[in-house]
Amino acid sequence: MVLDEAIQGMMKLQDLDVRLFIVSNQSCVNRGLISEDRAWELHGIIIKKLADAGIRIHDSRLCTHVDQDVCACRKPKPGMILDLCNQYGIAPEESIMIGDSETDMAAGKSAGCLACVMIGTGSEAGDAACGDLSAAADLIQKSYYAS
Ligand SMILES: [Zn+2]
Repeated sequence: MVLDEAIQGMMKLQDLDVRLFIVSNQSCVNRGLISEDRAWELHGIIIKKLADAGIRIHDSRLCTHVDQDVCACRKPKPGMILDLCNQYGIAPEESIMIGDSETDMAAGKSAGCLACVMIGTGSEAGDAACGDLSAAADLIQKSYYAS
């Protein structure tokens, strides 16, 4: 399910001429609930839905490990963010992490992101909190792109 506000928010971000990436913990794979292929397949369905709505996700990383694997990618570790930054020549300090969990915020901070924006209220984990992705996009536009 991809929420309307999320689509709207990604549209707004895309209009700022930024590249959009997805980094996602998918421990269901290593817990044996679904296969890694299936995780990517489900992810592909989301990417396709977004594409149908006119949103281009530049690239994605999924961490299919569990805590016990002690991998470098599972959020709150910054591995997936750093990996994408490295691959695409992007400085983490010029990147913004948007997420809906404290582990997302921790991963962004650990990667050295310019800012971490929390979706949903009731947490102080991020640099800012917004009700939804659309509001987050507005905030980012106002904070970093207002001319
Ligand atoms: Zn991992």
